[in-house]
Amino acid sequence: MIIDDDEDFAFAAATALRHIGHDVKIELDILSAEKSKNKLDSLLVDAYDMDQLKVYMDARMIVRVNWCGDPDCAYNIKDMVSGEIRGTRWDVNEEPTNVCVLCRDEAKYLAYVSRTY
Ligand SMILES: [Zn+2]
Repeated sequence: MIIDDDEDFAFAAATALRHIGHDVKIELDILSAEKSKNKLDSLLVDAYDMDQLKVYMDARMIVRVNWCGDPDCAYNIKDMVSGEIRGTRWDVNEEPTNVCVLCRDEAKYLAYVSRTY
């Protein structure tokens, strides 16, 4: 989820500002952007069974799970934890690391689940 270029840019911008002087507001904007990125990272966790998933959903985390790809599993997950499979990453080919979080069949995807509102 972290884009390294952004971090480099933020660091370079903050350094430049220190040299230039006193544009405090812009520097604060950069700091708060970094904070929200950290927040996103701290909200992302892995769950390997439904108990973990339930706990993380209650904590309003974004949870990465192994998923077999069966829509029935997606529906049942939604029923059980009020969390919806939002999808898989299209930019990175993430290999599943375990069996499906629900049916324990072979997983085909790493999927991201977050709470439905
Ligand atoms: Zn499944």
